[in-house]
Amino acid sequence: MTDPTPAAPRPAGFVPGADRSVAPAPADLALPVAGKRLLTAADGTALRVGDLPADTDWIPLGSLDGVPAWAAEPAGAQELPGRWRGWASLAAEVPEPLATLAGRALTVVTWRRTHRWCGACRAELVDVPGESARRCPGCDLYVPLRLSAAVLVAITRPGPAGRPDELLLVRHSYGPTGLWALVAGFVEGGETLEAAAHREVGEEVGLALDRLTYFGSQPWAMSGPGVLLTGFTATAADPAAEPVVDGRELAEARWFPLDGLPAELPPAYSISRWLIDATATGARR
Ligand SMILES: [Zn+2]
Repeated sequence: MTDPTPAAPRPAGFVPGADRSVAPAPADLALPVAGKRLLTAADGTALRVGDLPADTDWIPLGSLDGVPAWAAEPAGAQELPGRWRGWASLAAEVPEPLATLAGRALTVVTWRRTHRWCGACRAELVDVPGESARRCPGCDLYVPLRLSAAVLVAITRPGPAGRPDELLLVRHSYGPTGLWALVAGFVEGGETLEAAAHREVGEEVGLALDRLTYFGSQPWAMSGPGVLLTGFTATAADPAAEPVVDGRELAEARWFPLDGLPAELPPAYSISRWLIDATATGARR
């Protein structure tokens, strides 16, 4: 039994939603999007619906600490006052729930722009009320906002006798090549997260895994809209095995002692870094 309350508490944090039944209010949060960039106030805080032109076509995103949030692709976006920047720059600066909300704004706006027509019969799709989904009025095809899942694995092995455990880090051949990162890859259709983790590690560094354990997940707007990163920890099945890179996707893979990790690690707002930090901290306990 719970005590009756006069009003439902306002949900804390970010809650996704797609409710268009209530019109945006001037004090609601506003996340204008242009291409891959988002607009905030000059001081980096989120804009409000009232800051933008009254004829803006708002797209529901859900709520942040109970305040409804809306995205838009405003006309004449470049003339709007404020600060345009990519998701990575924003996520590095703003508190986590707002970074997640900004990622959803990019995801929803991009999805709507790239899912206008039915892929089966070419009719124009219509919104499904209350859902992040569209439906074809011609053939009834249901088109939900789909996520691309990716896996990341923090692989450890026992260090030499009397030394701390070691963590496997890799350098990619493209993208931020100076960064020491975790083995990662996209999940294939028909594959479980766990199977993808084993397959990617096998393909990228030629290692077999033991004790694969789920760590957590993070929506990630940097590698494209709708990417969901899932993190795992694991140990190398053969502690003596050395990684072998293909030289195409990966340039280098190396074991690092947990008390001697390189400085060039993924950013603090990434699940990659949370995994690395948790692995390093756990080993010191
Ligand atoms: Zn159709």
